[in-house]
Amino acid sequence: MRAMVFDGTSPVLTLRDMPIPEPGPHQVRIRVEACGVCRTDLHVTDGDLTEPRLPLIPGHEIVGRIDAVGPGMSGFGPGYRVGVPWLGHTCGSCQYCRADRENLCDAPGFTGYTLNGGYAEYCVVDARFVFALPDDGDPVALAPLLCAGLIGYRAFRLCGEIKTLGIYGFGAAAHILCQLARHMGVRIFAFTREGDVAAQDFARTLGAEWAGASNDPVPEPLDAAIIFAPVGALVPLALKSVRKGGRVVCGGIHMSDIPTFPYSDLWEERQLLSVANLTRADGAAFFDLVHQYPIDTHTVPYPLENANAALNDLRASKLQGAAVLVP
Ligand SMILES: [Zn+2]
Ligand SMILES: [Zn+2]
Repeated sequence: MRAMVFDGTSPVLTLRDMPIPEPGPHQVRIRVEACGVCRTDLHVTDGDLTEPRLPLIPGHEIVGRIDAVGPGMSGFGPGYRVGVPWLGHTCGSCQYCRADRENLCDAPGFTGYTLNGGYAEYCVVDARFVFALPDDGDPVALAPLLCAGLIGYRAFRLCGEIKTLGIYGFGAAAHILCQLARHMGVRIFAFTREGDVAAQDFARTLGAEWAGASNDPVPEPLDAAIIFAPVGALVPLALKSVRKGGRVVCGGIHMSDIPTFPYSDLWEERQLLSVANLTRADGAAFFDLVHQYPIDTHTVPYPLENANAALNDLRASKLQGAAVLVP
């Protein structure tokens, strides 16, 4: 099979011809139809995340059809369409797994990081961590739901009961969450880089009632804010944008250092927290909602062989919506 491989020495992936993997117990093999490109993939290839398996096939927004099942597997037949997210394995026995917080598992496996992912024609995954997907949907349109959608949804849930939400960084995750949150009656305020008029217009077309630069004055104190951009300097700005008791959720796996800020910005019970990974329950709840409120994902497809171009375009913030690889 063709696969784009990260060897740990350079951020540039290499096209390789590899043997088609065989599924083991609890595993299924998937013929990949599409695989989204996530900012986390950049953090892996750029060395911000330091413990990848090597060599690694990245990619954790996989849509495909089951093509073979491991020994003793039942319930999944060949041809069945599934989605594969970032959470690829948990131990099932640590204190977090036992407390329904498997996103924090002490011995996890992550698709496209510590486990091979979907920048390939085939991948083998643990069947207990995949989600059923609609048989008739466009695989390219579905792919960004598997991480941008899911992690955005988990970050949104962590905001609590809210009527207004600020979103810092309007990329793949934001463009999905904006639509979902609007369906649920939440008013959206979108913050982008100064002068990024295209992103601000994009946010408005998806239902944001206000869009501006991250350092613009906030029109009104917000109930909560989510930071998707990997920029620590946004944390003090977001804290200033929320009302007393408001929450700021950091939605990314990596962020540049957070500058110091006066305690008064946190005072009055403002809360700052991060969101890590996902649970399978998040996935079930999210795909139920997507079924109820269809999401229009904006995607830019690239042939699998052009994965490096897709990563570069994401790094340069040239994308509106999500890049998706098609093998
Ligand atoms: Zn565990
Ligand atoms: Zn991701």
